[in-house]
Amino acid sequence: MALIVHKYGGTSVGSAERIKAVAQRVAKWQAAGHQLVVVVSAMSGETNRLLGLARAVQPEPDPRELDVVASTGEQVTIGLLAMALKQRGLPAKSFTGAQVRILTDSAFTKARIRQIDVEPMRYELARGSVVVVAGFQGVDEAGDITTLGRGGSDTTAVALAAALRAHECLIYTDVDGVYTADPRVVSDARRLATVTFEEMLELASLGSKVLQIRSVEFAGKYKVPLRVLSSLSDPDTPLAEESTSGTLITLEDDQKMEEAIISGVAFNRDEAKITVVGVPDRPGVAYAILGPIGEANIDVDMIIQNAGVDGMTDFSFTVNRGEFQKALEVLNTRVKDHIKASEIRGDNKVCKVSLVGVGMRTHAGVASKMFRTLAEEGINIQMISTSEIKVAVVVDEKHVERAVRALHRAFDLDQAA
Ligand code: ADP
Ligand code: ASP
Ligand code: MG
Repeated sequence: MALIVHKYGGTSVGSAERIKAVAQRVAKWQAAGHQLVVVVSAMSGETNRLLGLARAVQPEPDPRELDVVASTGEQVTIGLLAMALKQRGLPAKSFTGAQVRILTDSAFTKARIRQIDVEPMRYELARGSVVVVAGFQGVDEAGDITTLGRGGSDTTAVALAAALRAHECLIYTDVDGVYTADPRVVSDARRLATVTFEEMLELASLGSKVLQIRSVEFAGKYKVPLRVLSSLSDPDTPLAEESTSGTLITLEDDQKMEEAIISGVAFNRDEAKITVVGVPDRPGVAYAILGPIGEANIDVDMIIQNAGVDGMTDFSFTVNRGEFQKALEVLNTRVKDHIKASEIRGDNKVCKVSLVGVGMRTHAGVASKMFRTLAEEGINIQMISTSEIKVAVVVDEKHVERAVRALHRAFDLDQAA
């Protein structure tokens, strides 16, 4: 008997029928003698609907109240899934984030989990119940409801698995694993049987939204065995087959050494570029620009400072598209005149396209092949950043899908490894 955590995303609980199918799948695992903790998201589209409602009432919603509203979607699905399980004759109990005391900090809309009280869950599990927990939500010291950022149910699941020392955390979703690229964009993308934590971290942070990045960080830190698999397969698939399907996120690099240099292509549409034009090329300029940006709690990603000409230079960086206007405002009000810049330019129609693979460590020439591929497609590269296992470029958003497909082809990612 093992303790297993399942997580079902929005599409997987998107209708009464789907919720019943989840119950059927969970019943199969329970019947095999396992203890089950099941984390669910809101029904697909529901969180967007709630956020839209909030904005319709208050264009810049109060963060505390926004979390009160946004967290309700998951409360509906835990209740419905517990009912579906009971309807099948299985003992089950639903818990909100506050009820299992998923204690977080107070950073509304992007709270971090600090501690989880496992006792209420252990008690129910020992009684033979399936424990159903709301994803995405927690509670801070003051008792206020918090949420963990978009896609946060993945993190709830992995954090519960870590706290309960679960045998495995299974992320059931609407694709049957992690692919070499988003299958919605690249039709011949290939499922990866395994991917390393390091690669998954890069893929998630570079825009592959199949797993929330924090969930991967958690899994790596607490060594939680993590698998991404399909919730749309037949719920009665034999357990032995299902438990080895999908993509396993592995800790070791060694088994990948002889495999492909590149594991995947990621892209992120959520980017914006800002250029401070004509700033004096002297010590302290980067700090004068990025200091106020940091103070405004705006995350900066890529940064480029051009070589100076006649003592002047241009300084460019990227931010999340949602924080673009705020960043421009900070620069225009607090930075431009202070450092005597001639102009602040913004472009929120850019995207980031990245190649990820641990094989890059031992193989040269990945970046140049990437640049050649984009050149042949006539796609201009606006910014570049690299790490040991990734090369990322910023391009005009109208080229993003073509860039992803061309790179996928150029690096033979559609061919079996
Ligand atoms: P859930 O609601 O189950 O959390 P998400 O929509 O958050 O599901 O994540 C699954 C989606 O992630 C897929 O439908 C797919 O379009 C997208 N995706 C992006 N990149 C990848 C990738 N490399 N492999 C698999 N899916 C990906
Ligand atoms: N329902 C939340 C969202 O849409 C959390 C999740 O689905 O993981 O972002
Ligand atoms: Mg998700």
